[in-house]
Amino acid sequence: MILQMRTEGIHHITAIVGNPQENVDFYAGILGLRMVKKTVNFDDPGTYHLYFGNEEGSPGTIMTFFPWPNAYKGQAGSGQVGITSFSVPVGSMPFWEDRLEKFHVNSEHITRFGEDYLVFEDPHGLQLELVEREDGQTSRWSYGGVPAEFAIKGFGGAVLLSGNPKATEDVLSQVLGLTKIGEDGEFARFKARGNLGNIIDVKLTSLSPGSIGVGTVHHIAWRAEDFEDHEKWREYVQQAGYGVTPIRDRQYFNAIYFRERGGILFEIATDPPGFTRDETADKMGSSLLLPPWLEPRRQEIQSRLLPAEARVLKEDTL
Ligand code: ZN
Repeated sequence: MILQMRTEGIHHITAIVGNPQENVDFYAGILGLRMVKKTVNFDDPGTYHLYFGNEEGSPGTIMTFFPWPNAYKGQAGSGQVGITSFSVPVGSMPFWEDRLEKFHVNSEHITRFGEDYLVFEDPHGLQLELVEREDGQTSRWSYGGVPAEFAIKGFGGAVLLSGNPKATEDVLSQVLGLTKIGEDGEFARFKARGNLGNIIDVKLTSLSPGSIGVGTVHHIAWRAEDFEDHEKWREYVQQAGYGVTPIRDRQYFNAIYFRERGGILFEIATDPPGFTRDETADKMGSSLLLPPWLEPRRQEIQSRLLPAEARVLKEDTL
């Protein structure tokens, strides 16, 4: 029997989007994140897997995408992450409001748990929000029109839409070791022990089930400290009665997956080895990287992929 384990918080969130260049232009060009890795979906090498984050691509900052240019649009609903929250430095909200307006991205303010959120969608309909937080190291990455002092620090957290909110509350507190810190209207708030990706809100009313597709989150991954901790997590999740996958080598981290009882796909991912495993820190994201087992198929894989280059947008060069 393993004693209660506690994750630091979100490791990464993975979503399905449309055209890859539109995806890069939004997350690198407009939001100013660093594209820290350009690779393919290891389970479907005809599709990119694009990773964005802070300068180092630290766990807790990594938003990843499977761009499916010709796929159906999904529908956000229960059994999914409904909103992905990014944390920005205190005092930077006016900058972000102006910036979204400059790029014709509609946004609105909402309040949850007394915090002001700026809510908007990416070009493929994915629900996002920005919140000012003291927690978390300020990013050192500046890109295009986003100076480091205003840059996204990483995840603030996420809003989970559950098919069974009580069960989702239980998995967060009893399995992942988050602490419930309150309720506000139709949300319960949980806090993990890390300082980024650490605030998780569960919507307490159940919506109709979501459908996976463009503009929806595929899964949310939680942090494990290292490979040894990861093996413990696997045993722990299994003991808690969840069907969990074997450990999979995702090149930049090891991963296990299980579906919680509210229908949301959870992953637990290791902090190491990280994104400098196969390219130096200064070159991260600049070329297509393949794991050793796909390298022999590079030419065939590359010929099927559309362009996806990080570039400063013209609005930022005027
Ligand atoms: Zn993942």
